[in-house]
Amino acid sequence: TGQGSDACHSGGMTSHAHDPFACFLARPARYEQDEATPDVRTAIAEAICERAGNQGCRTATDLLAVLERAGLTAAGMSRLTALSDLPAGDLDSATMAAQLGSDALELVQQALDGHLAVSNFENFSSRLANIFAYARDVTGGALADYIPELAKQDPSAFGLAVCTIDGQQAAFGEADTAFCQQSAIKPLIYALAMGLNGENQVHRHVGREPSGRRFNELALDPDNRPHNPMINSGAIMCSAMIRPGLPVADRASLLQRFVGSAAGGSKVGIDQAVYESERGTAKRNLALVKLMDEHDAFPEGVDPAAALDLYFRACAMTMDCRQMAVVAATLANGGVCPTTGHRVIDSRIVRNTLSLMLSCGMYDYSGEYAFTVGLPAKSGVSGGLMIVVPGLGGFGLWSPPLDRQGNPVRGIEVSRLLVESFPFHLFAGVTGS
Ligand code: GLN
Repeated sequence: TGQGSDACHSGGMTSHAHDPFACFLARPARYEQDEATPDVRTAIAEAICERAGNQGCRTATDLLAVLERAGLTAAGMSRLTALSDLPAGDLDSATMAAQLGSDALELVQQALDGHLAVSNFENFSSRLANIFAYARDVTGGALADYIPELAKQDPSAFGLAVCTIDGQQAAFGEADTAFCQQSAIKPLIYALAMGLNGENQVHRHVGREPSGRRFNELALDPDNRPHNPMINSGAIMCSAMIRPGLPVADRASLLQRFVGSAAGGSKVGIDQAVYESERGTAKRNLALVKLMDEHDAFPEGVDPAAALDLYFRACAMTMDCRQMAVVAATLANGGVCPTTGHRVIDSRIVRNTLSLMLSCGMYDYSGEYAFTVGLPAKSGVSGGLMIVVPGLGGFGLWSPPLDRQGNPVRGIEVSRLLVESFPFHLFAGVTGS
């Protein structure tokens, strides 16, 4: 797995002699690219046909089968939609160059060359299937019960999905069941607030230090700001900075569209019953708003009640594990969604978001998680967990029973098994495992 580490050893120092830090970019993300000229497209299409032929792959159907084994499907990514329209029969480079954009052509070429983020995807998925099966046997934990919708979740529900920075996807168990994201949406509230207001303005009103307290603790930092955007007060503050002048419904739909774009241009819903229950059991969050208001923590002109309303709608936003994995892969890819090829989040904002997920994403287990797993992640009380492997891809997981800290029990188990099985820990690069 991982495409970049050899770049470092095989001539990285000579070919990147002008850049003494090239070695640090061991896992380069795939950024959006300009459309290539027709000549270049024809050259790539010719190379594809030749390589496909060498691999015994003659027709468009054969090619789709090869891609599917690499985890790439036209259904799973809009970048490849045009592939399914290739005429049946032998592959023909002129038709291919005319019908496919350079984005799709380059991806197909990489797949045939074995140069995708995960080169042996079949092997990778079967190892993930083992991890999934192992974690399924792990029991324990308790459902969140502060609202009826969460108390009646099925404790045995378990889904896991992966997406790489090249859009390779696999899913296990209940990966297609949408569930309310709760706190797992917080990184996206923050990223959108940053995109709309800039870093200085956002961090004038919210810190970036772990709080060392429960996620809904009535506490502010020494500057009277919420400690960070991954706890309730900080997420309410970031919600306050999402287009405060618009009606709440429009602000919610902006956030839904933003999250949907990061999730491959898919639809993000709102669970109305969850939203109403959140509003009905809002005492603690109301107290947090009061506390912040009393300390003049909100930006000028903001209606704190509307910010709280937006926060509840955000907690009630629904995605399934597959969508979460694509969002995680968008973050892993520096903000360009791997399945659409569109930039959704500015790269600097992605860096900030990942830093906060690493230091504050797993409640009071964040330090321990950073130590043992070493990956940016965010959990939520509905049992969702988003894990980012920067430069490689991401995972979406759902398993409702929570441990004492509020993290999904099976999510912690899967995280532990992932870093045991693959060199995913952020510092694996310097330790070799
Ligand atoms: N809706 C929950 C709350 O605001 C979300 C918290 C969570 O997922 N930790 O309390």
